[in-house]
Amino acid sequence: MQIKPNGSQASSIGPVTNFTGHARRDPIHTALDPSRLAVGQVTFDPGARTVWHTHPVGQLLIITAGCGRVGTWGGEVREVKAGDSVWFEPGEKHWHGAGLTTAMSHIAVTEAENGSAVDWLEPVSDEDYAK
Ligand code: MN
Repeated sequence: MQIKPNGSQASSIGPVTNFTGHARRDPIHTALDPSRLAVGQVTFDPGARTVWHTHPVGQLLIITAGCGRVGTWGGEVREVKAGDSVWFEPGEKHWHGAGLTTAMSHIAVTEAENGSAVDWLEPVSDEDYAK
């Protein structure tokens, strides 16, 4: 058993290669072999979002605070609020982020395949984000 006390893992700022706007990442659990499960909290300032990306074996989001938006390639932009959960299928191209004027936090539950849990792609345009 391992207990990670609150305050023992540093926050980090989402890098500009993977995020538009200001996003803070707080790790919760890093994959420990043979488990491939990784869990982290992300907090997006209003207008902030990930770039387009895919997950090789899917991803579960649990919205924990605020109101944000999620989008899939060729699909609608949907509003999500605290208490909602979102599942993205393996390989489904998508993004997640804050609302236009509201912050959003989620817990992301992701499994790696061959050591990688995400493939980052191009930024989400302001037009696609604001749909
Ligand atoms: Mn994702």
